[in-house]
Amino acid sequence: MRVEGRFVVYKRGGQVVHIMSGSSAPAADFVVNKGGPKRSFPFRGDETLEVMPLGGGNEVGRSCCLLKFKGKTIMFDCGVHPGYRGEESLPFFDEVDADQVDLLLVTHFHVDHAAGVPYWLTKTAFKGKTYMTYPTLAICKLVWSDFIKVSGVADGSGNLYNDKDIQDTISQINLIDYHQEIEVEGVRFSCFNAGHVLGACMYLVQIAGVRVLYTGDYSRQEDRHLMAAEMPGVKVNVLVVESTYGVQVRFRLLGDLAVQISQHSMDTLAYGAAEARVESNVLVVVVVVVIVIVIVMVIVMV
Ligand SMILES: [Zn+2]
Repeated sequence: MRVEGRFVVYKRGGQVVHIMSGSSAPAADFVVNKGGPKRSFPFRGDETLEVMPLGGGNEVGRSCCLLKFKGKTIMFDCGVHPGYRGEESLPFFDEVDADQVDLLLVTHFHVDHAAGVPYWLTKTAFKGKTYMTYPTLAICKLVWSDFIKVSGVADGSGNLYNDKDIQDTISQINLIDYHQEIEVEGVRFSCFNAGHVLGACMYLVQIAGVRVLYTGDYSRQEDRHLMAAEMPGVKVNVLVVESTYGVQVRFRLLGDLAVQISQHSMDTLAYGAAEARVESNVLVVVVVVVIVIVIVMVIVMV
């Protein structure tokens, strides 16, 4: 199966998403879609896989990305924007019917990836399952409690949720271990170590034979505490890759990831952040979407 890329630019509020076509698609094929949230990656035939950033597109913070395929909807991460207060800091939840989302997969505990989870689970119609690793949950408990202390105004009215909501959220969280494979409603997924911070993972999702790898924040550099991000070692059809520093020093890391995946003879679609400049390589169609994600650990800032 081969991904056929094309440019789609979508603007909503601060969200500007660039999807850059790879070597097999016309470079000048821009579609400006100001009216709707959809951006489609047509597969051959009438199959369509949609990637819809609800937050983190050309901005810093509130990472939240929807994947739609074959009637399934998966949300990756649910962060808040640290530059805004209250509901303004949330992803654009109004772009999606919460009760139609099957899964929420959280990559790591940072506020811009996970602080919106208690709101999503307790204040919306979401009925799906939520997964994260055990270390992520352990630290999220602290992050969420800390978040309501620092995000509310003096009387607490700016808070998105309270302590009880956090407890209700924790009771709904399902745990996943690295390399564990889980199937929910026909969606198979597993996770791999992403480096970056304790508990951080990438998700490999398989729907109807199509594999999508969502990296979240990752690091390919081993340090004294954490291993480098793993390579799943299986064929991936669509790569959704964080690339906040994609055009800077970490661009090489992004490229390494794409190239290594391509060496498994995969058709790959890279999805990331920063200015839309990406290297196509021989075997892949590389597509870049702008998602800028806060790297600063708010928990450290507090
Ligand atoms: Zn992070």
